[in-house]
Amino acid sequence: MRFHKSESAFFVFIAVILVAGGLTFHAYGVLLSIAELVSQIGHFNDVAYLSKLLFAVGMLLTTALFFGIFFIYPMIRVQVREEGKLRAMTASLSARSVTLEQAALTDGLTGMQNRRYFDDALREYLEEFRRIDRPVGLMILDLDHFKQVNDTHGHDVGDEVLRAVAGCLKDLTRYHDIVARLGGEEFAVVAPNMEMDMMIRFAERIRKAISGLSVVSGNVRLKITASVGLAIWDRKENAESFYRRADQHLYEAKKLGRNRVSA
Ligand code: GH3
Ligand code: MG
Ligand code: MG
Repeated sequence: MRFHKSESAFFVFIAVILVAGGLTFHAYGVLLSIAELVSQIGHFNDVAYLSKLLFAVGMLLTTALFFGIFFIYPMIRVQVREEGKLRAMTASLSARSVTLEQAALTDGLTGMQNRRYFDDALREYLEEFRRIDRPVGLMILDLDHFKQVNDTHGHDVGDEVLRAVAGCLKDLTRYHDIVARLGGEEFAVVAPNMEMDMMIRFAERIRKAISGLSVVSGNVRLKITASVGLAIWDRKENAESFYRRADQHLYEAKKLGRNRVSA
């Protein structure tokens, strides 16, 4: 059994009272043994007075002992129990708030980061990369004719496709890339330390991997493609303008016939 600090302090307090009581009792014994001798030399009143004093001290110590055990200790127990309950509650609340915070930044369908996370992370990355003066690449991917997938094979198959694309993006990106589902069938990757030619190769690799995915629906093997818009940060623009530039390239990729990268 483990004791709370206040309980341990209380036990020390009781031990001190007991030792003081023992010493008082001992002093009383000594006094009795020399009482006759002291009375003979004419100090009988002093002995009587001293023995009354020791008796009073003994009574006070006994009262303190009872008071401590029957009043103070129960109060300490109640307080310790309440403190324990409160601590358990705080721990479970803070665990809950971590889970809630995570849920607020995660996309439920794919388990990826969501739009809210992406917006904050992109802004933070740009601040950091402005400071160290390094490039940042951004690609926005949008699945081609995804509405047809839903219309032809059903929403569940559509969801399966989204999860497959998410898995593919997770496999092909590096741990410090920001990979998010922005909503619907649109995804984004922020890739630090990427110049344009590297970023184009990276995006092509992802585009090809997505076009190589096959999701089975009944007895059909479903093929999907994605269009990708690319931009490299010009080291001056803010997150919104940077994003808009990549989005314009995505629009271009769609216009040029889809299943392609536009930069
Ligand atoms: P485009 O090539 O021009 O991008 O055509 P599209 O059909 O992909 O684009 P559109 O914006 O017309 O359709 C997007 C579709 O994405 C419509 C919607 O039903 C579907 N969608 C959005 N969110 C989800 C989702 O969570 N699950 C599924 N299964 N479908 C979704
Ligand atoms: Mg779209
Ligand atoms: Mg689309």
